[in-house]
Amino acid sequence: MQKTIAMASRKSIALVAHDNKKEELVEWARSNSKLLAGHSLYSTRTTGRLLQSRLGLKVTLLESGPLGGDQQIGSRITEGEINFVIFFSDPLRSHPHDADVKALLRIVVVWNVPVACNRASADFIISSPLMSSDYERLVPACARRGARPSVGARSRPSPECVVENRRQRHDLRPHQLAENEEFA
Ligand code: PGA
Repeated sequence: MQKTIAMASRKSIALVAHDNKKEELVEWARSNSKLLAGHSLYSTRTTGRLLQSRLGLKVTLLESGPLGGDQQIGSRITEGEINFVIFFSDPLRSHPHDADVKALLRIVVVWNVPVACNRASADFIISSPLMSSDYERLVPACARRGARPSVGARSRPSPECVVENRRQRHDLRPHQLAENEEFA
């Protein structure tokens, strides 16, 4: 099941760079600073401090990447606060938080978030006309049955999820829901 989330013309962009890519990100952001200033910017701490001090950009600082900043970005994507990621990653070195970066990129795909992991992609993405317009992003409305852990009292599934899970359990097509007394 899918639903759409509206992305306004002002996007919430996470900007991150691994250490060897920080200069490249700063240079890229310098070339696009006017455009970036029209969006809400978030960064892991060291990257964000560089963007603030070198370019004067207004950036919400999260924790440093190795201390959980990438996970914070993932969590804000899930909550709908961040909807865009520019992550200049360094594929030629291993990092203590590689698992966090992998988890972030998984969440980016799950939530259909635009992402650029190198400069050319960032150039293409930032010059898209969609940067300055509204966009309806398709996102998952409900986890597949069996694809989520058992749900405890603290986090109840949404009513749509309850109906969808029952529908799958009874192997009903959506149009058969109304005919089944359990859904009446
Ligand atoms: P940093 O984190 O901006 O704090 O260096 C980036 C990262 O390596 O994920």
